[in-house]
Amino acid sequence: MTKLAIMGAMEEEIEPLLAHFDNVNKVDYANNTYYEVNHNGLDIVIAYSKIGKVFATLTASTMIQKFGCDTLLFSGVAGGINPDLKIGDLIIADKLCQHDLDITAFGHPAGFVPGGAVFVETSKELREIAKVVAIENNLKVIEGTIATGDQFVYKAEQKNFIESTFKADALEMEGASVAVVCDALNVPCFVLRAISDTADMDAGFDFDAFLKTSAVNSANYLIKILEKLQK
Ligand code: SAH
Repeated sequence: MTKLAIMGAMEEEIEPLLAHFDNVNKVDYANNTYYEVNHNGLDIVIAYSKIGKVFATLTASTMIQKFGCDTLLFSGVAGGINPDLKIGDLIIADKLCQHDLDITAFGHPAGFVPGGAVFVETSKELREIAKVVAIENNLKVIEGTIATGDQFVYKAEQKNFIESTFKADALEMEGASVAVVCDALNVPCFVLRAISDTADMDAGFDFDAFLKTSAVNSANYLIKILEKLQK
């Protein structure tokens, strides 16, 4: 690892990360701001993409191809599906899928297009390090499937479809696109989320109430993982 990318989707998700570092250098590029820092000798680029798969793809690609990042960590919030995931709890993705990618009319499985795959895996090595950090810090972390799509999910029908079709544990709007970019460019990828809501009829309300605290939970764990990576 020579240069690390740390991404969120929303400002609230990277604020607690930026607050952790001194001497942040701002670079404006492609309608976004990238924050460069050097932490104990390691170059890090931090950015929030804006919400959704397209913006997340743009930011992940930019961090790797323009800024030269060779490892990518994502931190943010998600809607929980697995009943073991309560608001504030942490999930790391072992694989991700696009729940809204649908050419099933042609007999393909949900989430699949030719040349792609339904599920994209994240870096096993980074997950193992994260699990060690969780044990050392007595953090409850679930490892599971995250489903991504360009929808804020709050209806039972949408949630049930995603749960039954992809056996997903959590859902959000950016992770799978970042994983696709990293997979294509051979960059180890890690996707961490803290639960902000449970993708039900209260999701909009819960999201607003818990975005900040859950984003901080995710960021704090990510910082601990970063410290481990630097040892
Ligand atoms: N309140 C924001 C919109 C938030 S969209 C605004 O008005 O600007 C939800 C964000 O959190 C996305 O980045 C997504 O990745 C994540 N997320 C959390 N809960 C979600 C849910 N139930 N469905 C989809 N994405 C969710």
